[in-house]
Amino acid sequence: MKLPIVAYGDPVLRKKAENISAEYPELQTLISNMFDTMYNASGVGLAAPQVGLAIRLFVIDLSDKDEPGYENFKKVFINATILEEKGVLWDFNEGCLSIPDIREDVRRLDTIVVSYYDENWVQHEETFNGMAARVIQHEYDHIEGKLFTDKLSPLRRAMLKSKFDAIKKGAIKVDYKMKFPLASKGKKK
Ligand SMILES: [Zn+2]
Repeated sequence: MKLPIVAYGDPVLRKKAENISAEYPELQTLISNMFDTMYNASGVGLAAPQVGLAIRLFVIDLSDKDEPGYENFKKVFINATILEEKGVLWDFNEGCLSIPDIREDVRRLDTIVVSYYDENWVQHEETFNGMAARVIQHEYDHIEGKLFTDKLSPLRRAMLKSKFDAIKKGAIKVDYKMKFPLASKGKKK
C-alpha cells in the first residue's frame, strides 16, 4: 500500500526520530508499504519521517542501478547509528522525495561504518562506500531531523526560497501522493 509522502516544511521532518523495539506494531506491513511508496515515486531510499513517523527506520533499494555490486542491494535499516564517517569528500547531485524539483550537489565523505538491525532483527555492523554510503547518509539525516538542503550555502538556500515555499503549499506538480504542510484542505489528500 502506498502512503502519502510528507513534504518539506512538515515538523515531522525536523524531529530526531526514536528507536523502536521488535514489538513495534505491524512493522513488517510498514516496511512493505514504505517500499511500495518508494518504488511508486521512483526513489532509491525512504525514511519513516517521510511517511509521518518519527522512528529510526529507513529502506533503500539500489538494485536497479547499473553499477556493479548493487544487484542485491535492498536493505532495511532499523535503529541505525553511523559510527564513523571517513575517506574522501565527494560531490553528488542529490534529490529528495519530500523536496520535489530541487536537486543540488552535496559534499559527503565516501565511507561510513553503520550499526543497524535488519527487518529480522539481526544486528549488523557494516562498512559501506560510494553510492551505498551516500544514500545511507541521506536517509540517516532524515532520522536525525536533517535534510540535504541544510548542507547548502545560505546564499543557495535563499535563492531556493520561493521553491521551498511552493513545495510547502503544494503549488508543485508531482506524480505521487504527498501531504503538504500549508496546503488548503481540499489539496491535502
Ligand atoms: Zn530525502
